[in-house]
Amino acid sequence: MEPATMTHDETKVFHRDITAIPPRVQRAEGVHLWDEAGNRYLDASSGLNVVVNIGYGVKEVLDAMHKQAELVAFCGGFTSAPQEDLAQVLADMAPGDLNHVRFTSGGAEATETAIKLARHYFVESGQPSKWKVIGRWKSFHGNTLGALAASGYSARRLEYTPYLSNFPHISPAYDMAAAEELEAAILNEGPDEIAAFIAEPVVGSADLARIPPEGYFKRIREICDKYNILFIADEVLCGIGRTGKNFAIDHWNVVPDIIIFGKGVSSGYTPLGGIITTDAIYDAIAAGSGLFDHGYTYSGNPLSCAVGLAVLNYLNEHHLVERAADTGKYLLDSLRQALANSPIVGEISGLGMLTGIELVADKVTRSPFAGSKRIGARIGKATRERGVLINPGFGAPSLPSDPERIGVCPSFIFTREDVDQTVAALSAALAQVAQEEGLA
Ligand code: PLP
Repeated sequence: MEPATMTHDETKVFHRDITAIPPRVQRAEGVHLWDEAGNRYLDASSGLNVVVNIGYGVKEVLDAMHKQAELVAFCGGFTSAPQEDLAQVLADMAPGDLNHVRFTSGGAEATETAIKLARHYFVESGQPSKWKVIGRWKSFHGNTLGALAASGYSARRLEYTPYLSNFPHISPAYDMAAAEELEAAILNEGPDEIAAFIAEPVVGSADLARIPPEGYFKRIREICDKYNILFIADEVLCGIGRTGKNFAIDHWNVVPDIIIFGKGVSSGYTPLGGIITTDAIYDAIAAGSGLFDHGYTYSGNPLSCAVGLAVLNYLNEHHLVERAADTGKYLLDSLRQALANSPIVGEISGLGMLTGIELVADKVTRSPFAGSKRIGARIGKATRERGVLINPGFGAPSLPSDPERIGVCPSFIFTREDVDQTVAALSAALAQVAQEEGLA
């Protein structure tokens, strides 16, 4: 299969990696994509960035988009029925008293909004010394500078550290000792300085499908409450049904103070993200200045909100969150069965339609391949040559000592037959690359 590709001197687009410009897509439908050379791909990656939760070309969403574009696509200075209705649906989906939604155009803007809201809440409540956000190493909250400061993705941060606020980070391990580290970090910095702790309930690109043990987030919640610190759950990748519950944090029955969402909320039909926060935070601002003076030109634009509303209505009407939980179990079992004996596969983890596969040069020591081997990208390419798209990692891992992780994160409409086709293609690709490395 020869994809439709370009070289860097044939394009005016400044691509992310100008040495490896991706193929040119032409159209998409359901779980399939076609490139301009006419090749058909089964998309087991939800659009590479884990976005397309409900599949491509859903008529109800296209109709809603068209209808809203005809009515009004953009207009500052007004609220709109789609914005109001979408906020209601999100408040209904979110746990506890998370009832108040502020929209953005994507995940990084939403992280910036969450950080500023945490700070603003404490300013309004007469505790203006609280500003720092504690994050976790091997986490990712977006590529804008505030979000990157909270992130613990060394490969993406290092060059930009002069611009990054000096936010503390705790251990990337998801175990109970790491939860206790939060208390130590708070005491070391001084609780009066700390506004919030931010974490992905199931980790995305920095450590794909890293899942916390039972009790981790319960303990985090206790520590945050003890020191009057807000808990921000970044659900941009793992939320909106991806793990088989509305939000990943629901697996542990913990209620955050702020949820950040993006990606799947519009299933990629238009750019959309935002935050959901509690009655307590909203009421504190209502009792104070009444103003959270932060936003973006496209915050809450009627077109994206109409799309988000149609996507969530489709998700809920077709019970796709339950389906993600069910197919996700089959996916994880199938991956574990098929790949257990691969000499280059270490740990395999997953929750719902979010799985991660660790790539190792040595199965016993679980040591990584050298970064220069671009092992994840090669497996992605070898799988693509078999007509299937997986998540071939997200660039360099956080640290050179970390094994790279690739993933299979399909749309929730994937069938068991689609899973079987994906697992077969991935097994063959892994065998090919293991052989190239002399490890077969
Ligand atoms: N938070 C998480 C957990 C993410 O995975 C991402 C993107 O991958 C972001 C935030 C940033 O979202 P965006 O790329 O829409 O700005």
